[in-house]
Amino acid sequence: MDGMNPDTPVRHDWKLAEIESLFDLPFMWLLSRAHAVHAANHDPDAVQVSTLLSIKTGGCPEDCAYCPQAQRYHTGVEAQKLMDVKDVLERARAARAAGASRFCMGAAWRGPKDRDIPKVAAMIREVKALGMETCATLGLLGEGHAQQLKDAGLDYYNHNIDTSPDYYGEIIHTREFEDRLDTLEDIRVAGLKTCCGGIVGMGETRAQRAGLLQALANLPEHPQSVPINQLVPVPGTPLADAQKIDPFEFVRTIAVARVVMPKSVVRLSAGRQQMSDEMQALCFFAGAGSIFMGEKLLTTGNPEVEHDHALFRRLDLHPMHLNVDVHEPGTVQADILESCMHVV
Ligand code: SF4
Repeated sequence: MDGMNPDTPVRHDWKLAEIESLFDLPFMWLLSRAHAVHAANHDPDAVQVSTLLSIKTGGCPEDCAYCPQAQRYHTGVEAQKLMDVKDVLERARAARAAGASRFCMGAAWRGPKDRDIPKVAAMIREVKALGMETCATLGLLGEGHAQQLKDAGLDYYNHNIDTSPDYYGEIIHTREFEDRLDTLEDIRVAGLKTCCGGIVGMGETRAQRAGLLQALANLPEHPQSVPINQLVPVPGTPLADAQKIDPFEFVRTIAVARVVMPKSVVRLSAGRQQMSDEMQALCFFAGAGSIFMGEKLLTTGNPEVEHDHALFRRLDLHPMHLNVDVHEPGTVQADILESCMHVV
């Protein structure tokens, strides 16, 4: 089967049946194959560490069924205005000191207004000046927005497609799947790196999980970063009582993502706090090469930084570093290495 060879070239013509066949492999076979692909394309001992900050929380007009920031659900998340640049910078410095190489800024908007872009651009410029990679997730982008963010120094734009095209309408009614694809195309054309994935455990079928991965793998370019989230059911949202996905099925999803997008960095994202250390280890083996580290993922909890550092030590993992001179004292890289001394 194509995709079983670790040297399989990057493909954009995956058939649904092929991806379903990967899901259907015996678990140990699937993990073996996924790990072979991972080791052939990535350092399996390195994990890229990002920190995510909500720069504008709550009050979102959209109706994503999983999201506590949607204004229409009563989840106790209070709407806040856009943070000041200096406060964002302070949090970025702390993230850098904790070992993060990428700083992601998220705003609960349907999309930014023209007047919001210069404010976010100022944050991007300042964070970039710390020597960190920058990522933003602001929703649907308007004309020219992607280019303005790129000009400010943005490296990545996160824009998840959430679920398979045929299940999208069950989860979100305030926009179409194609709207997401339009913004993804704007990001690609502007030359930004794409961070794009989805959420599993929202009541979708295995075929729909395969459909999510097919939609991602058949984009014109594979996203450089593919976050695979496990639903964190939040009281007050329509998915509050969603049945938890079987942990091994989640690991399978990571493994299949690894195989069909061999060069992408697969990120173990939301839901990690609900996973045992052993399950996370399986995910790393299956091809996850990135995590969010920090106290909170937008509004849901995230394992404490120290626990993550200890897990890295126990699994002989180390954080992926930025490619700058590691020897020059006082450089960002030196700071990161210093802060990682108790990680590796
Ligand atoms: S996921 Fe994003 S767009 Fe959807 S309701 Fe939440 S903040 Fe708004």
